[in-house]
Amino acid sequence: MKAVESNVVSYSKVDANARTAAESGDRIEWIKVSLVYLPLATPVSDAKVLTGRQKPLTEIAFIFAEIRTRDGFDGIGFGYSKRAGGPGMYEHAKEIAPNLLGEDPSDISRLFTKLLWAGASMGRSGLTTQAIAPFDIALWDLKAKRAGLPLAKLLGAHRDSVQCYNTSGGYLHTPLDQVLKNVRISQESGIGGIKLKVGQPDLSIDIQRVSEVRKILGDDFPLMVDANQQWDRQKATRACRAFEQFDLTWIEEPLDAYDFEGHAQLSARFDTAIATGEMLTSAGEHAQLIMTEGSDFIQPDAPRVGGITPFLEIMALGAFKGRKLAPHFAMEIHLHLAAAYPIEPWLEHFEWLGPMFNEQMQLKDGRMYVSDRPGLGFTLSEQALVWRADATEFGKLP
Ligand SMILES: [Mg+2]
Repeated sequence: MKAVESNVVSYSKVDANARTAAESGDRIEWIKVSLVYLPLATPVSDAKVLTGRQKPLTEIAFIFAEIRTRDGFDGIGFGYSKRAGGPGMYEHAKEIAPNLLGEDPSDISRLFTKLLWAGASMGRSGLTTQAIAPFDIALWDLKAKRAGLPLAKLLGAHRDSVQCYNTSGGYLHTPLDQVLKNVRISQESGIGGIKLKVGQPDLSIDIQRVSEVRKILGDDFPLMVDANQQWDRQKATRACRAFEQFDLTWIEEPLDAYDFEGHAQLSARFDTAIATGEMLTSAGEHAQLIMTEGSDFIQPDAPRVGGITPFLEIMALGAFKGRKLAPHFAMEIHLHLAAAYPIEPWLEHFEWLGPMFNEQMQLKDGRMYVSDRPGLGFTLSEQALVWRADATEFGKLP
């Protein structure tokens, strides 16, 4: 028999001058972490306030991370906390920030894991993951800017715009006549849908408010309600049954955020879609929710789950399991992520963050459009700097 020699590989042709990816990679040289308090024009209440669990919301704490590299690329990202937690997140972010100095900013998954393990004894969900989010989001912003692409395009967009709904259609503190006025203005302004808060101690008041709003909007206009986790299983069952007649797009957080089985039962029992997930703070928690069939719409929040890296994991599992997507809050980030989701998503429209950025979001015919600006497409405004309570820098500006 003749020996087979064709699979012998010659290494002599390797170019001795070629550099490896690790050798030619960029390096993170400067990081700035800042704490900014955004004041709200009017204190806001949902059902958690009505039941005494929380005080009305008067301001939001934002943790910004700004990153610059040796090769002159910039990235910006943020996390946030409503009510307590902002200063704690800021302190944790400052502790883990130095781990990024000298690292290749393109290795986002590895850097996410590095930051996660830096604080792992405090847990891999909650405050510690939320403190990672500003860095992770800044790294994705930077990567898209390096590519000269809007983040949605870097990820692989399914659409250039996302239908969006007005989340401030009616808070619990807003009297019904004012709610009806707001709803009409909102519909005329060309928004794609409207969400009302529910969860009054007396369910009949919720039903009356939703009924009046449905009358004004007409049968076909997308309408959602949000109970902010205030019902137990019996009350949620009663409420979902009563709301079936209004053809709602979804009923949000009818139960405690961690009662995945309870949400799954409601989802199976009623035609109206169930939405939840905004309170979860890791990809692992979302995986549990999705695998329990706990919601028809998943509502991850990139800053809350630790950034865009874990959000992409949630998107992959959600799409695989046929879930719809309606990310919570932070539309400036979620527009890009929702644009890259295979199933038509909804974007939550909050105008609150607008004053912190120089750029305006483009809303037309009920849809928010991805701009052609590279990265996430926003920069901090002068006003945001006025609201800045503290800032710390790491490394040296290249
Ligand atoms: Mg909600």
